[in-house]
Amino acid sequence: MSLLERAVSRRDRPPAQLAEVKYFRFHLSTASLVSGSEGAFYVMEALSRAYSLGKETCGCRLSMKHFFSCESNKDKQRWIQAALNCGPLMPALSPLKSAYESSDGDSELLQLGCIFQDIETLGGCEAHCVVHGKLCPVPGCDLLVIGSSCEDLSKANPRKETQKFVFQQSNSLGSSAQTYHGFTSYVAAHSPGLVTYENVGGLEEQIGAHAQSNLDVLMQTMKELGYSGQPLRTDASSFGLPARRLKPFLEERKEKSAKAASKSPKSSGNCADQHMKFAEAEGLRWGQTYPQEPKLNPWFGTLTAREQDVLALSRAQAPDAGFRNVSQSLGRVHTASLCKDTKKRVAPTMLPGQLLFLELVKPPRLMLDQEALLFQGFPAPQFLKLVETEGIDVYECSAAASGSVRKRSGPGRKWLTESLTADLAGNAMALPVLLAIVQSAVASLLFRPDSRASTREETADALSALGILADL
Ligand SMILES: [Zn+2]
Repeated sequence: MSLLERAVSRRDRPPAQLAEVKYFRFHLSTASLVSGSEGAFYVMEALSRAYSLGKETCGCRLSMKHFFSCESNKDKQRWIQAALNCGPLMPALSPLKSAYESSDGDSELLQLGCIFQDIETLGGCEAHCVVHGKLCPVPGCDLLVIGSSCEDLSKANPRKETQKFVFQQSNSLGSSAQTYHGFTSYVAAHSPGLVTYENVGGLEEQIGAHAQSNLDVLMQTMKELGYSGQPLRTDASSFGLPARRLKPFLEERKEKSAKAASKSPKSSGNCADQHMKFAEAEGLRWGQTYPQEPKLNPWFGTLTAREQDVLALSRAQAPDAGFRNVSQSLGRVHTASLCKDTKKRVAPTMLPGQLLFLELVKPPRLMLDQEALLFQGFPAPQFLKLVETEGIDVYECSAAASGSVRKRSGPGRKWLTESLTADLAGNAMALPVLLAIVQSAVASLLFRPDSRASTREETADALSALGILADL
């Protein structure tokens, strides 16, 4: 007789019968840092919906509950609040009707839907929340999503802090270091179960003689905090998006915007020289009169002279390119858009401030900011429709009527603008990639139904069993 059998045979009572349960219901709390457009909220909705549809086959019903966001930009805070107030895109199909709704009483214990202002304060118990206008408790969460500020690390940034371990500095120009410290202090204090961290290719760049990267610093810190992880390098176009994302970029941008540059006599002189040389090298005639089609296209008239020139030269050099980023300098305007494997057209990475001329639509035109957001997987048309139908105030005045003296009467500045949408699109996470990663992480979890706390009798029982084992 084995030790276990002998121990069991001496039990006074038979083992409790396991209740027959068809499926279990679980809630996972989620939160996002540097939330941006809060696309993670819709990723969690999609995941919850998938689990609710598959409860018969997967044996459990899982729903993701958004606990809080953290964003320092005022307009982005309003965008996030609008998303949370509107709730899921398909409430009838979503297990959760709104971000604040709770079926198990969590909302009584926690104030859900907080938007914290400053990531660096999240290591504490309380932090300033812009939704409730006070210090709110900083909750823990099961799943944390962070899309770190990538200014200092991005290869697209000519001022990036090369040859430096940005994460080891106390602060950095583009605030990547501050974001990083805020993030690690939150993780250290509140220990989220799962962490998804999105950044750019520059994170992996090796620095110094020891061939270490900021990614190594991040991995080491997480290890010290008790986490194990796996870095992934993904291209959004492999996950069903019509655009590339997280592909290393070797480009330099000196101009803030093409329009500003074209107004400067000095840079327009440089441009003309550059364009002339380019045309010569490509065997093209520079300064040729534009064909009739662009003149008839009203979108062409919205371009500056420099952008028109860039477009014409790019068309002559690569007539088949599907997308031309006319805000770029020559040589970086277009890339091959036809994917040889899938025979599908793939747009380049959406970047902040880019002007993408779409050749694949008739007549060709500039990409709209909403479309750029859609190209990241963000459900922009549905979100903007909800904002309208839910009557979300898109002016900042009424929301900011916090007793301060208002000089103007009538509606204030509009926060929901094309430029905000463009900024969010350029910095957004590729949502199908996030969905795939979160899905894999959740699938790897071992779910166990809630066990009630042991009674005193059961504890005594267990201890006596241990005593028996010790006597054997
Ligand atoms: Zn709050």
